Amino acid sequence: MQTQPKASHFINGKYVEDTNGAKIDVIYPATGKVIAQVHAATPAVLEFALASAKHAQAKWAAMTGTERGRILRRAADIMRERNHDLSVLETYDTGKPYQETSVVDATSGADALEYFGGMAATLTGEHIQLGEDWVYTRREPLGLCVGIGAWNYPTQIACWKGAPALACGNTMIFKPSETTPLCALQVAQILHEAGAPAGVYNVVQGLGDVGASLVTDARVDKVSLTGSVPTGAKVYAAAAAGIKHVTMELGGKSPMIVFEDADIENAVSGAILGNFYSSGQVCSNGTRVFVHKDIKEAFLARLAARLENAVIGDPMDPATSFGPMVSARQLDIVQGYVAKGIAEGARLVTGSGDPMEGDGFYIKPVVFADVTDDMTIAREEIFGPVMAVLDFEDEADVMARANDTEFGLAAGVFTRDLTRAHRVAAGFEAGTCYINTYNDAPVEAPFGGSKRSGVGRENSKAAIAHYSQLKSVYVRMGDVEAPF
Ligand code: NAD
Repeated sequence: MQTQPKASHFINGKYVEDTNGAKIDVIYPATGKVIAQVHAATPAVLEFALASAKHAQAKWAAMTGTERGRILRRAADIMRERNHDLSVLETYDTGKPYQETSVVDATSGADALEYFGGMAATLTGEHIQLGEDWVYTRREPLGLCVGIGAWNYPTQIACWKGAPALACGNTMIFKPSETTPLCALQVAQILHEAGAPAGVYNVVQGLGDVGASLVTDARVDKVSLTGSVPTGAKVYAAAAAGIKHVTMELGGKSPMIVFEDADIENAVSGAILGNFYSSGQVCSNGTRVFVHKDIKEAFLARLAARLENAVIGDPMDPATSFGPMVSARQLDIVQGYVAKGIAEGARLVTGSGDPMEGDGFYIKPVVFADVTDDMTIAREEIFGPVMAVLDFEDEADVMARANDTEFGLAAGVFTRDLTRAHRVAAGFEAGTCYINTYNDAPVEAPFGGSKRSGVGRENSKAAIAHYSQLKSVYVRMGDVEAPF
């Protein structure tokens, strides 16, 4: 497959190149080899993108919701038709196994385009009667939106931000992560093929400085970031200086609680999904697994046995179920945390933290038991395949410990006790909670964080509030009374 894109950027309906921009190597995580190169956006490229997106916005907003929605739904159909190629590209970009990318990435991107495409025609204001007078509200777009992506779900993030933004009549400039720059270009091309007018959805490449230039430009009305908490703090502050709207999808250190009455097999499945899918590089992962003392050893034994079935290897082989880390840097970070876990006295159940032999950034799944709340591996986001298992005996105690974190992205509970399940879900300080499952993220449900894990919600009807604003229009039917 051709991994080198036609050009680095997609602006105003065309691929655009400016080789004066700094070179960014695209590295296939399974081999460590350079598979493509793009150039960071120069000031001229950024100016072109900003001017194009600004220019296109009024006309795009003037189309009916039905017309805009039809384009998004057509783009969803094209994405599904090209699922194989898009999945292969996603695997090249991220190293995630084709077994995952073929069912999660372009497909969930298409879901977002279809869902918000369907919703575009339904977006309305309301009528408020005030005696004889009345107010009506108009739901209006924010204007020019900037999307900035993380590297773990490059196709999905490009669509999760683009679809609601475009449905509401905004235009978008999307900057993918410099680690995974390829997939968003395909999203832009597909939207263009589906009929999105030039300038409606643009992609520019670059590192944090390019993102920062976009965020601070006066023409930009909203910024939606998916990234780490430290980056979120910077981007939020920069957006605040211009009183811009923000959505912040940030990091997490989410708890998963397994009570003594849980179905152990399901709980182990949830823990595997919530720690090792995408080699652990998922923001909402439940990396603090609190297991009731009575079932802890049974849980650990079953988990270790199930992990033996992980097929680690060539991500393009459909049998492979566990791929490499996205980059040498991420591998390094993960190894550092494993070393800290060992040094701070956690018990290594499986894995070693050593990179696997051969090319590529591979590390085996790691499970630590006897982890305590104060250990670094229980407090900081690792963003890799490292599960920390902690013991508990009492519900109130485990709830306090589960919530004792600056993060609040997700949380899960496994129990057969119906009332306890809902009580625990209500008590979690997190944006997305799971009962007897983990990490489902359907487009119909709001997704986002509380506390330092984020601001705003993606997906679902809730996203509309973050990509539109209401204008109230007061209408007086009689004379105007004035004091003098
Ligand atoms: P990161 O914070 O390093 O980078 C995210 C993006 O921000 C990149 O595109 C980067 O170039 C850009 N950026 C960096 N500095 C910037 C600045 N000053 N101004 C504007 N843009 C800037 O994150 P990452 O390493 O790419 O991704 C991993 C992180 O993302 C993890 O913390 C993970 O939890 C989080 N994440 C969150 C979600 C979610 O939905 N909540 C989803 C995926 C990943």
